[in-house]
Amino acid sequence: MTSEFNLIERYFTRPTPSATLGVGDDAALLVVSPGMELAVSTDMLVAGTHFFLETDPRKLGWKALAVNISDLAAMGAQPRWATLALSLPQADEHWLAAFADGFFKCAEQYGVELIGGDTTRGPLNLSVTIMGEVPKQQALRRGAARPGDDIWVSGMLGGAALGLAALQKKVQLDETDLAHCLRTLETPQPRVALGLALRGIAHAAIDISDGLLADLGHILECSNAGAEIHFDTLPTHHALAPWLAEGWARACLLAGGDDYELCFTASAERATEIIAIGAQLNLGLIRIGQINQGDQLEVLDVSDQPVLVEKSGYDHFA
Ligand code: ADP
Ligand code: MG
Repeated sequence: MTSEFNLIERYFTRPTPSATLGVGDDAALLVVSPGMELAVSTDMLVAGTHFFLETDPRKLGWKALAVNISDLAAMGAQPRWATLALSLPQADEHWLAAFADGFFKCAEQYGVELIGGDTTRGPLNLSVTIMGEVPKQQALRRGAARPGDDIWVSGMLGGAALGLAALQKKVQLDETDLAHCLRTLETPQPRVALGLALRGIAHAAIDISDGLLADLGHILECSNAGAEIHFDTLPTHHALAPWLAEGWARACLLAGGDDYELCFTASAERATEIIAIGAQLNLGLIRIGQINQGDQLEVLDVSDQPVLVEKSGYDHFA
């Protein structure tokens, strides 16, 4: 039998050179770099709601951290430390080893150190708090969009939602497309380098976790603005493109969550710099519309007619 403390020591204790004190005491100790603000965010993953109970624990470990890192990317912050609160039905060593492996793979890739957490018995539930640094006054806030701003999206949208639809047997994909979509769904790559590059250039930013319409909607609400976006300009995941005549596929593109791309706004003069950033990062950056003075989010087709949308993002309490 493993005790709680053995378990923490075995699976969740790794060197933490950028913390004064890491796992093992009543609290961790951190020093924020001069001139920086601490950016803090928490995301919880609940079995049955955010993932299937039988999900590969290695992928779950990756995703639990990656979705948190994505929130800091959307602030233009450099992720540095994380804590992990775990509720587990039992101390299954295989599960824990695989989960920790996925978690630390993501941590290493993004330079994040696990500095503490909590471990209890209960229904499977993972909560990560991420901490990072951003120069004072430079965070990319949701409320900073201005009328006339271009709206940009990174990468491709709809792949994760299509992967989920395939897992739920709502659609059948060929092997290559399925693999691509599941990779997007299960091991998202948070856009940290993009967030850092957009400091001082972008106005507002958000990561697309609940779907483009919902997340861009948050920018509009916080900025007291409206927007129009052009459906035909949206960067559609290549596996989703052949299905776009169907309503459910348009919903994957506009309202599907879990892609963890960034949506951001910037004044039109910055377009050349933004295109250069995309080229440098080898990441597609596409202009999908403009911020306006209204209070609506309009999705227009090539003839400027409204596109019908079935569902506008995931709301846990709807
Ligand atoms: P306390 O009783 O003071 O809450 P705990 O016994 O819960 O302390 O935790 C002991 C140490 O292990 C603490 O430093 C805590 O941050 C760390 N810890 C607990 N669970 C985890 C975990 N899942 N991942 C990383 N660190 C953890
Ligand atoms: Mg505790």
